[in-house]
Amino acid sequence: MSIFSRLIEQYHQEPTDRRWLFIPYDQLSDEFGRLSREHPSDLGIVLVENPWKANRRPYHRQKLALILTNGRHFALEQARRGVAVRCVVAEGPYRTALEPLIDELGPIEVMRPAERELRDDLRPLVDSGGLVETAHEGWLSGPEDFAASQKSGPPWRMDAFYRHMRRRTGLLMRDGKPIGDKFSFDAENRKSWPGAPPAPAPPVFEPDEISREVAALIERRFPHHPGDVDLTSLPATANDADHLWSWARDHCLPLFGPYEDAMSVRSRGLFHTRISGLLNIHRLLPARVVADVAEMDLPTASKEGFVRQVLGWREFVRHVHERTDGFRSLPDARSPRIAATPGDAGWSCWTGQGWPRTAAPGEPDGGACPSSLGADHSLPVGFWPGNPTGLACLDHVVDDVWTEAWSHHITRLMVLANIATLLEVKPRQLTDWFWVAYLDAYDWVVEPNVLAMGSYAVGPLMTTKPYVSGAAYIDRMSDYCGPCAFDPKQSCPITNLYWAFLARHRGVLADNPRMRLILASLGKRDRKRIDEDRAVFVWVSQTLAEGARLLPEDRPEVDRA
Ligand SMILES: Cc1cc2nc3c(=O)[nH]c(=O)nc-3n(C[C@H](O)[C@H](O)[C@H](O)COP(=O)(O)OP(=O)(O)OC[C@H]3O[C@@H](n4cnc5c(N)ncnc54)[C@H](O)[C@@H]3O)c2cc1C
Ligand code: SF4
Repeated sequence: MSIFSRLIEQYHQEPTDRRWLFIPYDQLSDEFGRLSREHPSDLGIVLVENPWKANRRPYHRQKLALILTNGRHFALEQARRGVAVRCVVAEGPYRTALEPLIDELGPIEVMRPAERELRDDLRPLVDSGGLVETAHEGWLSGPEDFAASQKSGPPWRMDAFYRHMRRRTGLLMRDGKPIGDKFSFDAENRKSWPGAPPAPAPPVFEPDEISREVAALIERRFPHHPGDVDLTSLPATANDADHLWSWARDHCLPLFGPYEDAMSVRSRGLFHTRISGLLNIHRLLPARVVADVAEMDLPTASKEGFVRQVLGWREFVRHVHERTDGFRSLPDARSPRIAATPGDAGWSCWTGQGWPRTAAPGEPDGGACPSSLGADHSLPVGFWPGNPTGLACLDHVVDDVWTEAWSHHITRLMVLANIATLLEVKPRQLTDWFWVAYLDAYDWVVEPNVLAMGSYAVGPLMTTKPYVSGAAYIDRMSDYCGPCAFDPKQSCPITNLYWAFLARHRGVLADNPRMRLILASLGKRDRKRIDEDRAVFVWVSQTLAEGARLLPEDRPEVDRA
């Protein structure tokens, strides 16, 4: 018997006369829902561990550990309060584990899961009345907020949603006006980081026997999954979640705003809070973090910058995901292809073998595959561990991600998604890569961020333009270029990739007012340079497709005579 089973067994309670709740992996909190309002002795909870789900994609082991250890600790925390707890292991879709429990216990309640994929799995049980779905109380907004904030649409715009949410909640508002007299301090929050003030070291956690058992289980049951488990960087208990948030408040938030967009080899996280993994499983509540920050004595730019991320972006992307049914239903009737099964994000190309997935009848599909720009290249193997590309910025961030299952926003957007988009990587495959590599990724958040924001695969549906750039942006906002074999001002291929991207998609982007200036510059670009951009695109694409490293001496010759 495992240590966890032995401990949970000690708190065994009879199931009779209790209301039973299914607690999915995104709802590990007793600060909302019935667990926050009703007496523990009236309630029972069901938690499902699901190796079948874990095997659907090659998830980073740290992500598996985060979910498993937090689920187990949450189960014990609730059992200690007197809640009856049933932990079961599913060997197929979640419904296969819940069906027998519904037969035994009667109808079970569940707050609407955040992940569409899980909702899809549970739908037959909801339709039959065995599972009774109630609203998810963890969100800060409802569909009515989204509808009220968007004049019509699509396109949908985050700024309008965020202003509506500020007014509706009164957060960072005084006498009906935004504090600091404007809703956004974004323009002030774009400093690069010179190395000072020092960035805080992330908190270190003391693993207990439950977390150690989880790590051993992952080692044993999921040997083919990438990445390593690092228990010392993994918050596992409710106390750990408090500790991480207290660290973020004291050490990150005072400088969160100004360096929000900076990147550095000297600090993986800079002043970012690293709370996304816990927010998305509700070990930390979004309501709590925004309320705490609103009360803190902080520079307005940092305060507003943080609140915009959680009250604005995080809620907004989830509404876009819901409204489009995970981008399956796009407004202009361009129905994208739907992948029948989940992609392996290039794992098989990396390892040379097929991903060992067990299919199940009626399992959720593999997601929508929009590609407004027709991108159809495979993800370079350089996005997987141990395959440096020679582009120092990319290699550095890829290394960070596989070390921690996390990196901060600008590295995701302006290094990883930017380079993949410039290389015409299939947006679905890129999304799957983010989904498996990051510990905070679930369909409702990773799909809008990659398909819509990172790769422009759904056009201007929720962003005004593609987020692409050449070396100048990366050089300005980071210190990655110093040790790179390429020179950001002379030989960096990313700048050529950028111009080649604009030239290829000039037709689609021409009507976009925010692209007008840059397309005018493209119009003035010398013919030879345009040829060079194209040649560099072909060279980079082919070299990375072969898994080889880019070297400055192999760059296509520039004949500007
Ligand atoms: C290509 C790409 C992929 C992304 N994939 C994910 C993902 O799978 N899961 C995820 O939670 N976030 C994702 N994001 C958003 C964002 O990068 C992360 O939430 C953030 O980096 C997490 O680190 P942090 O907790 O230190 O965030 P901080 O910078 O400290 O910000 C605080 C919080 O704001 C919220 N937030 C900020 N921006 C966003 C956003 N665009 N969408 C949703 N929430 C946001 C997060 O909850 C975050 O924890 C992605 C962004 C991009 C560009
Ligand atoms: S020179 Fe180019 S490839 Fe090298 S780190 Fe800078 S932006 Fe990246």
